[in-house]
Amino acid sequence: MDSHQAVLVIKRGREKPIHNRHPWIFSGAIARVEGRPEPGDIAAVVDERGDFLARAYYNPHSQINGRILTWNPDEPIDDSFWQRKIERALAGRAALALEPETNAYRLINAESDGLPGLIVDKYDDFLVMQCLTLGIDGRKQTFINLLAKMLHPAGIVERSDASVRAQEGLNEVKGSVWGQEPPAELLVRENGHAFGVDLLGGHKTGLYLDQRDNRTAVCQPQFVAGKEVLNVFAYTGGFALYAAANGASSIVNIDSSIEALTLAEQNVLRDVGERPLDEYIAGDAFEVLRYYRDEGRQFDMVILDPPKFAHSRRDIERASRGYKDLNWLALRLLRQGGLLATFSCSGRVSADLFQKIVFGAAVDAGRDAQIIQQLGQAPDHPILLSFPESAYLKGLLCRVW
Ligand code: SAH
Repeated sequence: MDSHQAVLVIKRGREKPIHNRHPWIFSGAIARVEGRPEPGDIAAVVDERGDFLARAYYNPHSQINGRILTWNPDEPIDDSFWQRKIERALAGRAALALEPETNAYRLINAESDGLPGLIVDKYDDFLVMQCLTLGIDGRKQTFINLLAKMLHPAGIVERSDASVRAQEGLNEVKGSVWGQEPPAELLVRENGHAFGVDLLGGHKTGLYLDQRDNRTAVCQPQFVAGKEVLNVFAYTGGFALYAAANGASSIVNIDSSIEALTLAEQNVLRDVGERPLDEYIAGDAFEVLRYYRDEGRQFDMVILDPPKFAHSRRDIERASRGYKDLNWLALRLLRQGGLLATFSCSGRVSADLFQKIVFGAAVDAGRDAQIIQQLGQAPDHPILLSFPESAYLKGLLCRVW
């Protein structure tokens, strides 16, 4: 499938991001394509003088026509190339020493690990892979073989059911692709807490692994013990489990998904035991928060971990209004000296913009808010310096007066 004559010629003046090791080549940067590559083929990337810049996989059906794999002219893209990249990613994860307290974490974080479009998460003995681009999708079997050989998992599950695949001209697919099928509920550990995960039916690859360190930071005993916590967008109880384990007097969990809340309740019960004061409310977060505001209900801590509001640049303004409304409502529900833990996983909304939005919400709510910690994605989701797009999760822990 690799076409050795295929060449992407970059327009004069558009080479700089490539020199700076940004891995994406947009269609507008390409002067011409030589050698008739098929979608998914490897192509050499050259400047207008014909000098080598990089080697990329090609997809004319995406706005991102090329995703760079190497900047080294002497490095062919073969099985040993993929194996070296995977080895490097695994070495980086081993060095984090997450095991044994945590056995669910990201092994391969796409562009950030030099493997654009490929995500692999580990859940105990199972691996979950997401192929987000055509260049990766066409080589799926290579990755399955390498992962099986290198990691000896019990099974590999594919969760290529992310909507971004449409931008690559791909359908959504999911299923068990190697070895055993995972059980309907697999038990994994995160910082010593047991979570039941549905690898085939859950969101993303099963859990929001990127929030791991933030659960620890926000739900420290000195912040939650004896406190009334409102956990908005609770999913399967990530934050709830930590807050319960560290002595929160009550936790109100809100999510639109009943299935997620059912798992959340089971997770808390299994890990911490009966908690008669906790509530699980299935509904729209905005509506429930408005209802609590009208009721005059107050909390010591509010956690806001909404889904992605901005999917494209055009969404930024609408998303900003959504974040502002949500934070404004949450701020109204906090007691004096209470804590707001607020997040955005929209890559399009920068940390700077997010901070401004929360500031605007605080002004409108008439509250003083002090940032006591700035939060980001867990280190198994590394941010590549040459690819700022890989920084997507941001959060603020604020003391509110
Ligand atoms: N905090 C969670 C992850 C949250 S993901 C954790 O740590 O694991 C976002 C969640 O928001 C999803 O579970 C989704 O079902 C829920 N959701 C999406 N839109 C919502 C809405 N309008 N109201 C309430 N919940 C919503």
